[in-house]
Amino acid sequence: MCIFCDIVNGRISKEFVYQDEDIAAFYDINPQALVHILIIPKKHIASLNELTESDKNLMGNIIVTAKKLAEQHKISVNGYKIVANCGHDGGQVVDHIHFHLLGGEPLR
Ligand code: 5GP
Ligand code: ZN
Repeated sequence: MCIFCDIVNGRISKEFVYQDEDIAAFYDINPQALVHILIIPKKHIASLNELTESDKNLMGNIIVTAKKLAEQHKISVNGYKIVANCGHDGGQVVDHIHFHLLGGEPLR
């Protein structure tokens, strides 16, 4: 039922730019910048609203991984955005928490 769970579980084939036991990163299918990577926890969490105290390490892992992926994609020096949309008003479309890493060009 969840498209990002399907990607994590290999039901939709996707090359990961990074993965470990807890998180996965892959290119956005509809990039909004020259570099547009999605970083997600492998376990299903619907949105920022569903985070608990026990997810602190997981969230830290995602942000530090975003920083490393930015370095690997050579967008660190010029800068980038990490964006997490939450809920209807936040513009969240996929209900599996995800962080957008955007860069490679000036962003609005
Ligand atoms: P949201 O608006 O929920 O923050 O962002 C969802 C993002 O997921 C969008 O940027 C959209 O392009 C991306 N997306 C949706 N379905 C797929 C998919 O099947 N594969 C990939 N790689 N990205 C997807
Ligand atoms: Zn999911």
